[in-house]
Amino acid sequence: MNQSIDTSEKIHHKFLDKLQARGIDVHACFQCGRCSAGCPVTGFFDLTTMEVVRLAAYGREEDLLASKTIWLCAACETCATRCPNDIEIAALMDVLRELALRKKTVPAEPRVPVFHQSFLQSIRHWGRAYEVGLIVGYKLRSGDLLGDMKLGLQMFGKGKLSLRPHSVKDKTVIEKIFSGQGKEYER
Ligand code: SF4
Ligand code: SF4
Repeated sequence: MNQSIDTSEKIHHKFLDKLQARGIDVHACFQCGRCSAGCPVTGFFDLTTMEVVRLAAYGREEDLLASKTIWLCAACETCATRCPNDIEIAALMDVLRELALRKKTVPAEPRVPVFHQSFLQSIRHWGRAYEVGLIVGYKLRSGDLLGDMKLGLQMFGKGKLSLRPHSVKDKTVIEKIFSGQGKEYER
């Protein structure tokens, strides 16, 4: 066996082990298509949901991490609900997003992970979403300073956005979550 095949085999198994550890059995898929047929955002995907599951079964981690689909998935769970084999497809998308961030894969939809990071930072700091801080963080990171400005002003005018953050009383649980988050995916 040559070196390149040997290396790709290792990646394949490591990736599948991660899925197995999360109880995501991609090998149970028999490509019935129910997941793809029910997905509300499938028209925006570059890989259909059933393709994601099949590529995962083949251990094609790099193809998956480079796809738009993993970032555009809305985590609505419709696919998992429709799957006759109870495959946790939304959890699979989650694992792929997490891996993409950890491996610093250039995201095919860069503004989505930027928003995720801004949201998580808000949770980490306040224990809940502080919308104004989240928006400012997102704007600065994405460089999209003026987008959705009109909508933001309308929300502010209707009292939907508070300038003052509200923190949870006990943030020790939040700190605990962030301190151990995702360790099982580390390479
Ligand atoms: S619904 Fe389940 S079994 Fe059918 S294609 Fe999708 S993942 Fe595979
Ligand atoms: S969880 Fe994602 S892939 Fe599944 S149906 Fe919803 S948007 Fe589509």
